[in-house]
Amino acid sequence: MATADKVMAEVAEEAGRRRTFAVISHPDAGKSTLTEALALHSSAISSAGAVHGKGDRRGVTSDWMEMEQDRGISITSAALRIDYEGRVLNLLDTPGHADFSEDTYRVLSAVDCAIMLLDSAKGLEPQTLKLFDVCRARRMPVITFVNKWDRPGREPLELLDEIEQRIGLRPTPLNWPVGIAGDFRGLIDRATGRYTKMTRMPGGATKALEEVLAPEEAARVEGTEWERAREEVELLEALGADFDAESFLAGESSPVLFGAALPNFGVGQLLRAIVGLAPAPTAKTDAKGEPRPVAAPFSGQVFKMQANMDPSHRDRMAFLRISSGRFDRGMVLTHARTGRPFTTKYTQAVFGSERSTIETAFPGDVIALVNAQSIAVGDTLYDGPKVEFPAIPSFAPEHFVVARAKDAGKYKQFQKGIAQLDAEGVVQVLTSDVRGEQAPVLAAVGPLQFDVVEHRMEHEFRAPIEASPLDYSVARRTDAGSADALHALSGVEVLKRRNDGELLALVHNKWRLRVIERDHPGLLLEPLLAGG
Ligand code: GDP
Repeated sequence: MATADKVMAEVAEEAGRRRTFAVISHPDAGKSTLTEALALHSSAISSAGAVHGKGDRRGVTSDWMEMEQDRGISITSAALRIDYEGRVLNLLDTPGHADFSEDTYRVLSAVDCAIMLLDSAKGLEPQTLKLFDVCRARRMPVITFVNKWDRPGREPLELLDEIEQRIGLRPTPLNWPVGIAGDFRGLIDRATGRYTKMTRMPGGATKALEEVLAPEEAARVEGTEWERAREEVELLEALGADFDAESFLAGESSPVLFGAALPNFGVGQLLRAIVGLAPAPTAKTDAKGEPRPVAAPFSGQVFKMQANMDPSHRDRMAFLRISSGRFDRGMVLTHARTGRPFTTKYTQAVFGSERSTIETAFPGDVIALVNAQSIAVGDTLYDGPKVEFPAIPSFAPEHFVVARAKDAGKYKQFQKGIAQLDAEGVVQVLTSDVRGEQAPVLAAVGPLQFDVVEHRMEHEFRAPIEASPLDYSVARRTDAGSADALHALSGVEVLKRRNDGELLALVHNKWRLRVIERDHPGLLLEPLLAGG
């Protein structure tokens, strides 16, 4: 075989082993606990509690830059690599809580599947819904994990109903719990009918003791709980709520698993579902609409930038998800937007706090490019003939500030900095004739972005700013025809987004928006889809 063919065969095989995914959830649903349990189950780390660095635990997934530790929050999203049964699972972190930002959404452009993690007592929560919207816009396959079944919660059928009714995703349970939430006995595997009894191990998050029981034995041990679960499973069969690969891959149905991450119940089943059902990386469509096969020469897209806040190390790191080809450290790639070469001598694998130098990587993997000064979110890097991927869409902002240069004499630097941050996708820049160019409005998904802007404006562009919050929380797309009428209303302002010229109406809050929509049905106030 010629060398090129050999490389292509290797790349195709390696890509086939990859599963790149993220967990979408609301804070406290158990994302860190689940990450830890997944890693533990595959033995990626030696002891549970080593992943998310809470308390005195050693941090592996996030909190890995000093600056983050200073602040006690994570503003970056790291990737965790889990080796499991010959597969490579890349779990990309979706930052939540106060650090929820555009990056949280953008991570979803770099994964092939999402795990929707629900708290059994709470069901669908606001942040889960926001993130799900992005998955839906991308028609991304979603696996649902109903967590905390060891605690009192809702009825399983009621949770399935909520998923179907509220987000139109057809749930197809892969397993079914025996014992109500709070009295978790075990799981019936729907495909095989096998019952696995779970026993909590002393000391919490170690691997749960799992014991497979024959149906007669299960009936004897679990009594009425078994009967009830069997009846529900029959009901599911009658409803035809069975796994269906085609609709799953199209983002229309979702395999559902029940479990509890903390005592490690049902985590093995989830891991097997990810390996067995989540898609491996496939051809990504380029800006011309052509699919780029995974075995094509190297290409990848930057989905997140990390600016080092330390003024003495002002480097910037770009996180790139590989779409095609084999990456070898030291390769000289081409930066599609500028056509300039980019050397990759210092490229790193991203693996929690351990940023190790990487030698080779394949489609589905994430690499961190250091010294990425000229690179912005959405940029493509490639080897060989030119390829460019479509831009990552901007997302509906919910926080707004007016920015002004503290020192009027630094206006030039101010303009340059704002333009750069706009180009990098750190914030969206909005302007209007009323406000003038001196006082642009900065818009972001999460308020933490403004800290990043203030810091970089001061230290990098030497133009410290004053940022005054605006009392808006909703942005809608509008047009010139509606703009005048909207301007005349209170609690609304129309501005132009600089990077694409789109007109956005900013509204105080969603109640005000509802009143306006009711009273002025003719005005254009289109939701800015999280995906576009
Ligand atoms: P995150 O904010 O989504 O990362 O949530 P964490 O993983 O930090 O979990 C939030 C809280 O829920 C913590 O106190 C966890 O110990 C707890 N928790 C997570 N999973 C489970 C579970 O399966 N059962 C129980 N009882 N508690 C859980």
